[in-house]
Amino acid sequence: MNRRPDGLLNHNILDADKGPQDACGVFGVWAPGEEVAKLAFYGLYALQHRGQESAGIATSDGQRILVYKDMGLVSQVFTESDLATLPGDLAIGHCRYSTTGSSTWVNAQPTLRPTKYGTLALAHNGNLTNTGELAELVQKLEPSVGRERGATTDTEIMTALISLQNEKNVEASAISVLPQLEGAFSLVFMDEHTLYAARDRHGVRPLVLGKLETGWVVASESAALDIVGAAFVREIEPGEFIAIDENGVRSKRWATAEPKGCLFEYVYLARPDTLIAGQGIHATRVAIGVRLAQEAPVEADLVIPVPESGTPAAIGFAKGSGIPFGIGLVKNSYVGRTFIQPSQTIRQLGIRLKLNPLREIIEGKRIVVVDDSIVRGNTQRAIVRMLREAGAREIHVRISSPPVKWPCFYGIDFATRAELIASGLEVEEIRRSIGADSLGYVSLAGLIESTQIAENSLCSACFTGNYPIRIPADMSEGKMRLEITEVHGH
Ligand code: SF4
Repeated sequence: MNRRPDGLLNHNILDADKGPQDACGVFGVWAPGEEVAKLAFYGLYALQHRGQESAGIATSDGQRILVYKDMGLVSQVFTESDLATLPGDLAIGHCRYSTTGSSTWVNAQPTLRPTKYGTLALAHNGNLTNTGELAELVQKLEPSVGRERGATTDTEIMTALISLQNEKNVEASAISVLPQLEGAFSLVFMDEHTLYAARDRHGVRPLVLGKLETGWVVASESAALDIVGAAFVREIEPGEFIAIDENGVRSKRWATAEPKGCLFEYVYLARPDTLIAGQGIHATRVAIGVRLAQEAPVEADLVIPVPESGTPAAIGFAKGSGIPFGIGLVKNSYVGRTFIQPSQTIRQLGIRLKLNPLREIIEGKRIVVVDDSIVRGNTQRAIVRMLREAGAREIHVRISSPPVKWPCFYGIDFATRAELIASGLEVEEIRRSIGADSLGYVSLAGLIESTQIAENSLCSACFTGNYPIRIPADMSEGKMRLEITEVHGH
């Protein structure tokens, strides 16, 4: 429905202003007697921030698996009557932002493959780093797979590999394939009878287990448990595999855990009402803001957030500095999610499509504006210009993460290295480029201490360039090119 004739998405109309894009959200439910498709729908609804290009749900009634997926937001893809065509006792769901493969219908998830013991449906959050080797394995097992089906994602290759194993069931096949996968993966998958979940040995992307009165739920974030009334049980451990059926939850460890959780989940990606490693994300972001105020103090009249992702850190900055907190920018929450191409006149409004300043709050004041990160720099440049036009006397930009200098290969699409403003410019040069009176970032040590997670249990590669999982040369080539000849537009 939301496809262009060439099969590509229409809704990159405001790409010029987009920040880091997450890879995906996954959700799984085993609850006989419940309307599992509706539970999956609401679970995905709570995970919409993790992927806005496509959405899909697979259900099983014990006899067969049905999949419904399309391009668009969860609320655009499914109607009440679509969900009514998906009966069953168990379901998995997925919302996607493409980090590998293009934004086409064929790459929407869940993927579906017949196996010799039934059908396999699979949904994936993360990014594999040995897709080339895995594709070769698939080609050996079944030469026509992949190209013939037109799929281009690591998820499709992984699904094919599990389905082609010579084992007695999906569980045994998955256990034999999981150790061959490298990179980041939080998976939910199913056959006709059983819900499965697995997490890579580093636990890069989150995955949690919840309990319903009548069953079990697996989801990318605990916020998706809350929306369906499931109680948080625990995180699925790095290197853990679980199977859920009428016998309850079975857990197996397929690899020794070597935790490298994504530090950026704490800064921006996860919802503020999500728990990671037992910690509320909102409270962590407030603590980062307090630390930022200590590390990059400034005399000012008002602290305002770039809504909404900058809000908790701005609250923390106000708390740490004693400067009053206020709302100076109002967000139009839905405009970035339209599929209607804006006219040229509207496009020229740029950031004003998304944010509007409150002149009466800003005029004549020294403003601290707090944002979560700077990727290409154009959003911040536009915000500074907008605040000046609204009469701000001084504008001090404070960022609740260190400079993003390196691309992510584990499921987040920042940009290539050449597009990251901090990969080629020092802080003072970035300040000049965005036109602020001052610019301050929180330090890496300050950020890590605020998460209360040990540094060696975190991935911080986009800030440091130290990649904890090997990146093959062919994968890094395109993303690593450093050719800054100008400061690129967002
Ligand atoms: S590189 Fe950055 S965004 Fe990617 S997993 Fe590591 S910390 Fe997260």
